[in-house]
Amino acid sequence: MSLAREDMLRELELLPAWQLRQPAQRTVVEPLPAIEAVESPVVAVEVVAPIVVEETPQAVPVPVEVISNLSSESAATETEGELLPQTIEFSPDRRAAIMKMDWDSLQHAVAECHACGLADTRMQTVFGVGDPNAEWLIIGEAPGAEEDRKGEPFVGQAGKLLDNMLAAIKLKRGENVFIANVLKCRPPQNRDPQGEEVVKCDPFLKRQVELIQPKLILALGKFAAQSILNSESTIASLRGKTHDFHGVPVIVTYHPAYLLRNLADKSKAWEDLCFAVTTLQRLQSADIPQS
Ligand code: SF4
Repeated sequence: MSLAREDMLRELELLPAWQLRQPAQRTVVEPLPAIEAVESPVVAVEVVAPIVVEETPQAVPVPVEVISNLSSESAATETEGELLPQTIEFSPDRRAAIMKMDWDSLQHAVAECHACGLADTRMQTVFGVGDPNAEWLIIGEAPGAEEDRKGEPFVGQAGKLLDNMLAAIKLKRGENVFIANVLKCRPPQNRDPQGEEVVKCDPFLKRQVELIQPKLILALGKFAAQSILNSESTIASLRGKTHDFHGVPVIVTYHPAYLLRNLADKSKAWEDLCFAVTTLQRLQSADIPQS
């Protein structure tokens, strides 16, 4: 990948906006490495996750009535005169059934899901957007108000910055990139997601990963990173390393909404993007049979 360094910096709004926005602090943007130069140890690579993708169970279309059953948390559902068990949301059967779904069934199941209380306050679910065969999977926290209205993740100013970040590494929303959230429904008043909500929603993200089979996951922000890595570590300690989510390498960086409020950390996000690019390049070269 060859990119003009200035073009990439401009895509990330590193030039010249930073210097103009914070003159009082005399912020000096450190010279940033071109992608080709990132092999120098700007960030330490502690662990390289094994390039092993878990064996994907056979995807099967799931009948609509089964999806509806999985998605109804409260009262028993009446189907063809029979009452279905009320406990299905809390049983391993729910996770097992989700893990067998194909893409269309999974989308339908998310759209109809009432497994946690967020179903009562959402306008609509936000399944994710992009290429279902993408090499890059971007994972954020949860939909905000605008995402809740539009049904798409990362819209508004944070979404625009994410698009700029992707453009800086020659990626584009919808092309070789899929964008999703840990939670598919908006927490009211954008409060932090709760543990039970994450547990209930986790099978959907896990199945998305299995079906997409991305080469690399980019976790955006502390919550997404801590959730998918099951960790309480700070984002500072998670950055610059390769982690693992169900067999897929994970790299952690800042959430675009955070970067909008903390401009000085954009350079760190740029380091993370460069690290992600070189990691993926290394994974791709490892896939090429040696002659
Ligand atoms: S957040 Fe997830 S588990 Fe909760 S209702 Fe929405 S889709 Fe279902």
